[in-house]
Amino acid sequence: MMETINSSKQAIELEEKYGAHNYHPLPVVLSKGEGVYLWDVEGKRYFDFLSAYSAVNQGHCHPRIKQALIDQASTLTLTSRAFYNDVLGPFEKYITEYFGFDMVLPMNTGAEGVETALKIARKWGYEKKGVRENEAVIIVAENNFHGRTTTVISFSNDENARKNFGPYTPGFEKIPYDDIPALQSALENKHVVAFLVEPIQGEAGVYTPDDDYIRKAAEVCKKENVLFIADEIQTGIARTGSLLAVCGHCSCEGHCEKQSSYTKPDMLILGKAISGGFYPVSAVLADKEVMGVIKPGQHGSTFGGNPLGVKVAMTALEVVRDEKLALNARKLGHIFRERMQKLVDEYSILKLVRGKGLLNAVVVNDTQESSTAWDMCVALKENGLLAKPTHGNIIRFAPPLVMTEDQLHECCDIIEKVVRSFSK
Ligand SMILES: *Cc1c(COP(=O)(O)O)cnc(C)c1O
Repeated sequence: MMETINSSKQAIELEEKYGAHNYHPLPVVLSKGEGVYLWDVEGKRYFDFLSAYSAVNQGHCHPRIKQALIDQASTLTLTSRAFYNDVLGPFEKYITEYFGFDMVLPMNTGAEGVETALKIARKWGYEKKGVRENEAVIIVAENNFHGRTTTVISFSNDENARKNFGPYTPGFEKIPYDDIPALQSALENKHVVAFLVEPIQGEAGVYTPDDDYIRKAAEVCKKENVLFIADEIQTGIARTGSLLAVCGHCSCEGHCEKQSSYTKPDMLILGKAISGGFYPVSAVLADKEVMGVIKPGQHGSTFGGNPLGVKVAMTALEVVRDEKLALNARKLGHIFRERMQKLVDEYSILKLVRGKGLLNAVVVNDTQESSTAWDMCVALKENGLLAKPTHGNIIRFAPPLVMTEDQLHECCDIIEKVVRSFSK
């Protein structure tokens, strides 16, 4: 029998009893979303400051994406790639032009996108670069987050994500993040085929590297004939104030491929907001020399590239462009950090604020083990704003990019009130 939920308590009890305990959610049960707002089972309204880890940049239940989903769901949803379908081709043309690459390989979840990029990089290494088979090395950054598969957690250094999930996949080497000399010396190894990196480390606590880091890293890779792979699953799709975080500081309206400061990666991995929160879609973009190494039967996914998913993704990308979400994220990001900086200056409970666009974090001035950040998030929830701590005493603030300036100020007032209450 399907149970109807009448209270938050009831829903939490069901999850406790019947669900694997692989998450530790904030005690709020959501039942409705619209734009920047979420509502719980009791009807209380909240500002969403997580955006499903930046998967709903376009805002909850965006009407245009919803309509595309309904229309496509009423027509054709899944055929498998054993046959062609009439939505995949248009999607492939649309997304490659949108981001300025020759080709795309569609998958479903972000972790699958990462796995896909790793496989392509290894194959490219053997077939194009001439690395001896089974000896390819891929460089990654310390404190990375690229997903949860057995291979991806093999090169994590988060003990929680790794412990007792071994043996680990070999062929990965970690270097410090935001460290060009470390990258240079790692690339002295001629077996290196790729460097996989997040332009801003989101899960680790929104670590923003030096302004030149991405550009320099890409240059070093190019010089050594190593593929530069950008994981923009969280930072991409306008989140950081430009279409992609690798776009840097250009003043375009989200079409950074045309700008001189654009650092074009050899492979770009996208997920999350590529489908506006409606349906899992991920994608790897690359030019022909790289993507061409994949031949029929060598990689795939039953759901990857299905008409429903790619129709949703195309519409979600159109919304980002039409509503100028990159520009809004950039503008609101400045306001948010300015207001948070005032709190940091005034209240010793906060250590610092950092971030870019609307991907920001506030570091709480307490020990790694203390529950202060968690307690603050619970207090924020009581005051109508949902955020979640990430890695110890860091709170990530990442609202949907459709937020207005007035709404943002209202949210900053809520945060200010909670910070003040913790400072007594
Ligand atoms: C969320 C995320 C992933 C994994 O995506 P899933 O859809 O959860 O598999 C990979 N890389 C980064 C940077 C992410 O933020």
